Amino acid sequence: MFDNSIKAYEEAKEVIPGGVDSPVRAFKSVGGTPPFIERGEGAYLFDIDGNKYVDFVQSWGPLIFGHADKDVEEAVINTAKKGLSFGAPSPLETELAKEIVDMFDNIDKVRFVSSGTEATMSAIRLARGVTGKNDILKFEGCYHGHSDSLLVQAGSGLATFGTPSSPGVPADLTKHTLLCEYNNIENLKKCFEDSDDISCIIIEPIAGNMGLVPASPEFIKACRELCDANGALLIFDEVMTGFRASLKGASGILEEQADIITFGKVIGAGMPVGAFAASKDIMNHLSPDGAVYQAGTLSGNPVAMSAGLVNLRKLKANPEVYEELNAKAVKLVNGFKEVASKNNIALQVNTRGSMFGFFFCEESPTNFKEVGKCDFDRFAKFHHEMIKKGFYFACSQYEAGFMSTAISNEDIEACIEAANEVMKNL
Ligand code: PMP
Repeated sequence: MFDNSIKAYEEAKEVIPGGVDSPVRAFKSVGGTPPFIERGEGAYLFDIDGNKYVDFVQSWGPLIFGHADKDVEEAVINTAKKGLSFGAPSPLETELAKEIVDMFDNIDKVRFVSSGTEATMSAIRLARGVTGKNDILKFEGCYHGHSDSLLVQAGSGLATFGTPSSPGVPADLTKHTLLCEYNNIENLKKCFEDSDDISCIIIEPIAGNMGLVPASPEFIKACRELCDANGALLIFDEVMTGFRASLKGASGILEEQADIITFGKVIGAGMPVGAFAASKDIMNHLSPDGAVYQAGTLSGNPVAMSAGLVNLRKLKANPEVYEELNAKAVKLVNGFKEVASKNNIALQVNTRGSMFGFFFCEESPTNFKEVGKCDFDRFAKFHHEMIKKGFYFACSQYEAGFMSTAISNEDIEACIEAANEVMKNL
């Protein structure tokens, strides 16, 4: 069933480290060969062996309207015909920035970059520049891209590889990164007692890189209060949750608001985009207005901007989409829970808007260590068998799942039925 993918993987490994351009794609956590993809259409992925999968990853989030959405496709083609990049400003950047700024009371200005990594890296530089402080505080299991100082206990692909921080990152570069346990207020307070040099807290307010683990409202409130009391800025990393967890992301669900928000994925609808945004007071510190340097040759790329514009405008025009997506996510994980319990398997589930997570464990995990206690062998087996039945899930229990409007209720029902069959032998 995977002959062509096996061949393609071997060929890729000759010329690309591990055969992939982003480690999680190598399926190390679950084993086996990753299907090599030929094309996507709506809810489905088609691999080079002709297998068809209902895709519950949707390029790790961006494709809310599914693969090859006609509106996005048209915008991309029309824009591409006018040139792929100018290295000069274009009105499309302002248009997309306006769409974002209009949505958030705490945001006046946006700077576009080309990835989530750049967005978070730039956001912490800005926080340090604005506060004049050096330390940053992050949480175990939260991933904020692969820049040096954020590559400490970062969940997701790193957790899979058991490498809390990577070789190649000198300790000198991470000595300003303070690490706290997610959802642990006492631990957080202690960090602020230990350092008077904290420039910012960076947090995934709904963590999607240790499975889906939301922060409690009390925890977010403590983050906000401790930042305010200590002259630090609060950064919500909404690279995954932005326009996904709700129209306004986690910010739209939570009472407390951030000083800086980082975005990615959805605002590019599948094109490489990231962004960071804040009030004028904060953003005016950025080059060329201010002294904090940040730049990018392809930043604000017109094709990416046009894709993002169409996507965001469609979402804004159809906010009921979020109810539909959440109902589908709930239907899927509740269905899983039901068939798991029928088969005497302990399964915990979470959803936030169009994002979902499921864990093979007795209790719902609230932090990275608890996720680590879940049954990873069982997850691997489940993942394998579901792929064989045509259902494509994120290839690690440390990853979240993503619903798209293109996935139908019938797809979900078929998936639950398949899960029932798989769980009989799990
Ligand atoms: N922040 C979060 C919350 C993410 O989930 C990711 C990527 N999954 C990143 C940052 C980094 O984004 P990118 O892979 O585009 O660099």
